[in-house]
Amino acid sequence: MKKEITIVGAGLVGSLLSIYLAKRGHKVRIYERRGDMRKEHMSAGRSINLALSDRGLLALDKVGLAEEIKQISIPMHGRYIHNLDGSTAFQPYGKEGQYINSVSRGTLNMKLMDLAEQHGVEIYYNQKCSAIDWKKQLVDFEISNLEFQTTRFDLLFGADGAFSAARLHHQLQHEKFDYQQYYIDCGYKELTIPPTANGDFAMEVNALHIWPRKDYMLIALPNLDKTFTCTLFFPFEGEASFSNLTTEEKVKDFFEKTFPDALPLMPDYITQFFNNPVSSLVTVKCFPWIREDKFALIGDAAHAIVPFFGQGMNCGFEDCRILDELIEKNGDDWQAILQQYQALRKPDGDAIANLAINNFTEMRDKTADPKFLLQKKIEARLHEKYPDKWIPAYSQVTFSPYIRYSEALLRGQKQESIMQQVMATPGIEDKWNSEEVEKMILKRLIS
Ligand SMILES: Cc1cc2nc3c(=O)[nH]c(=O)nc-3n(C[C@H](O)[C@H](O)[C@H](O)COP(=O)(O)OP(=O)(O)OC[C@H]3O[C@@H](n4cnc5c(N)ncnc54)[C@H](O)[C@@H]3O)c2cc1C
Repeated sequence: MKKEITIVGAGLVGSLLSIYLAKRGHKVRIYERRGDMRKEHMSAGRSINLALSDRGLLALDKVGLAEEIKQISIPMHGRYIHNLDGSTAFQPYGKEGQYINSVSRGTLNMKLMDLAEQHGVEIYYNQKCSAIDWKKQLVDFEISNLEFQTTRFDLLFGADGAFSAARLHHQLQHEKFDYQQYYIDCGYKELTIPPTANGDFAMEVNALHIWPRKDYMLIALPNLDKTFTCTLFFPFEGEASFSNLTTEEKVKDFFEKTFPDALPLMPDYITQFFNNPVSSLVTVKCFPWIREDKFALIGDAAHAIVPFFGQGMNCGFEDCRILDELIEKNGDDWQAILQQYQALRKPDGDAIANLAINNFTEMRDKTADPKFLLQKKIEARLHEKYPDKWIPAYSQVTFSPYIRYSEALLRGQKQESIMQQVMATPGIEDKWNSEEVEKMILKRLIS
């Protein structure tokens, strides 16, 4: 039986979800708080560009969009590290031919909305979800001129992001709703590196640039217009912090000491620093995500995570693919579909949330540590020789879309504990590629 499905939020996940559901023959309406970004030239909010990897691409492929999106993406084959002494180093993300993709959030979102409409999805703009009664199957929207309208649904998906109104109103209807919200002590600010005077990229284009500085870092992803979007992940408080960089002199002094090689590429960084906002980074875990066959949370509304694994959108896209597979399996039994969706995705959402927090330390600190780099070299060698036995944690998450996040977390933890022992071996720097070390690792792997 076909349903009348309401989706709250026409962001990346809501738009993709609508395509999957419309393809199954359901009547789908999306209600979006903002105006139509295709007409109003507004920003798509949050970060300007995103790293799209194999999980996201697989979900896009199922609706026939992967190739088109790849055409408007820039491959990033590895991390390009900028050390404080001016030296640089390239660290491949995976094996030859494995890469992640820098894509514009706005362009991707607009393409998804276009495709949704081509499949008959109706998108209503300037409609802010202001109340939900899932038992009565009613949702209220505040329209831009402060009028309210109530709409009935068979099934509602809350795809309205990290600060989801759908989640909040669902929570208000229930005493027993687990909710955990955790802000890290760093925020972020975006800055732009323009093209050179010749109109070229100012740095190596096919890489994600990182300036790791222990407690904080600057990163940069390339855009098709030959700019780079930089993001400064930086403490809110303390000696080196947003709250301390209050004058032009302080900003200049800090940037000159900390990111000397980035400054010539970004002549107006001081103006940008004071003009661009600081945003916070939150992890949200909650439960349950579903109610009977009538209500479900998806994407960031169900599991907002910090961006250090580049997986938030990828995970939300994967939610849509898995949900679609469950529809295929269970037919019209939506109670079963939603229950299985929650049972599968909740542990994976929790796992990628934890992996993402851990990766902050790796990116801002360890990428500049020779011991860590040696560890990665040993792991890459093992992966090359025994591709089924040893997959580095990063590759499991980024390039192995059929390994669940929860499995990647567990396997990664086991591998990390083995590697800690290996790295403590005396003289490891000299015998890292010896048979002795290899045997030690393989023995521990099967024990
Ligand atoms: C700095 C940063 C960098 C990131 N980088 C990456 C990356 O490289 N790779 C990656 O995979 N992920 C990345 N992410 C995560 C990614 O941005 C999110 O996971 C993704 O946007 C989630 O999509 P969503 O559709 O669930 O939510 P959103 O993109 O937040 O969309 C929610 C939509 O709901 C609408 N809405 C909100 N409230 C209401 C309401 N009350 N009524 C109606 N509509 C409403 C919003 O206007 C919006 O359109 C990054 C995030 C940040 C902050």
